[in-house]
Amino acid sequence: MNYITDYSFDELTALVVKLGGKKFTAKQIWSWLYKKNTFDFDEMSDISIKIRERLKEVFSENPYKKIYRQVSKDGTEKFLLTLRDGNSIEAVLIPEKNRMTICVSCQVGCKFGCEFCATGKMGYTRSLTAGEIIFELLILQKHCGKRITNIVYMGMGEPFDNYDNVIKSADIANDDRGLAIGARKITISTVGVIPGIERFIADDVRYRLALSLHNPDDAERSLIMPANKIYPVEKLIEILRKYTEKSKRKVVFEYVVIDGVNDTQEHALKLKKMLNSLPSKLNLIRLHANSESKLKCSNEKQQDRFYRSLQGNSFPVVFRASRGEDISAACGQLKVEQEKL
Ligand code: SAH
Ligand code: SF4
Repeated sequence: MNYITDYSFDELTALVVKLGGKKFTAKQIWSWLYKKNTFDFDEMSDISIKIRERLKEVFSENPYKKIYRQVSKDGTEKFLLTLRDGNSIEAVLIPEKNRMTICVSCQVGCKFGCEFCATGKMGYTRSLTAGEIIFELLILQKHCGKRITNIVYMGMGEPFDNYDNVIKSADIANDDRGLAIGARKITISTVGVIPGIERFIADDVRYRLALSLHNPDDAERSLIMPANKIYPVEKLIEILRKYTEKSKRKVVFEYVVIDGVNDTQEHALKLKKMLNSLPSKLNLIRLHANSESKLKCSNEKQQDRFYRSLQGNSFPVVFRASRGEDISAACGQLKVEQEKL
């Protein structure tokens, strides 16, 4: 583990003791890191110089060597963060009235190649460590000067293809001694990697689960989401039903509305039948068009028709406000735009 943010509270306590410090020192370090937004060991003034020197020997500094930022008209801020190995990832800050949400990446690229997704078109390079994910939070929190209240794992990459690091990062963010972000305010979004969902259920993980559905029809879903050929939608619904029974929670379904692809009345009918069969919630999302794909968002009239035809069911449906469209805020888009410069 390279970064101090790779360590859980207990792991850091054990390490600090091994380095000759007191147990209490771990608490002080976490307070500097997560409550005072300080990640320079030299500034941790209540820690002995001897321990600070040891920490500097053990840990690499900040994993991001370069930061590029874009601000949207609606206040959304997007960050392109360059890792020490030269790879880059994106993180988005979404300020709202009573909350500050961060959308984090968990991998450089992605293996699953969804047709509409800029990250999917990049292919896969590597997974991020828990510490690299936590540093996304620290850097953005320091930048905005406000406490981050919500996390969504909806940036680049597939969380259930990096299960251990993603869950560890969420556990660190959730820990009361640090960032203390409530479990209900942490959402993990998956394309539908069944072994990951099974682990999530078996481990009794308390974070919210979102499934990127985008089409209720098996054959059609495979056309835009190749992962469906391995993890077909009927199997997904079956396992998600188990999740709702065990966790007593709803599944959030995400649905990007794509012109002529998944926005017809037949799709609405199928979707209703599927979602009425388990405790769920539906988030409709405008497709952010990107240069890597020919797919387009449905026009407003069609969006409205689709939305209205889904109302009045057992599941709530919202058209999620589109944020940061002018700065390519959908996952992977900024990186693609930058690489063209
Ligand atoms: N791999 C995970 C999480 C990252 S993607 C997943 O697929 O769920 C996060 C969300 O952004 C997903 O719902 C994904 O379908 C959506 N998304 C991808 N490309 C998009 C685009 N061009 N416009 C709008 N949403 C997009
Ligand atoms: Fe990967 Fe999610 Fe993009 Fe699909 S939508 S390619 S699973 S990041």
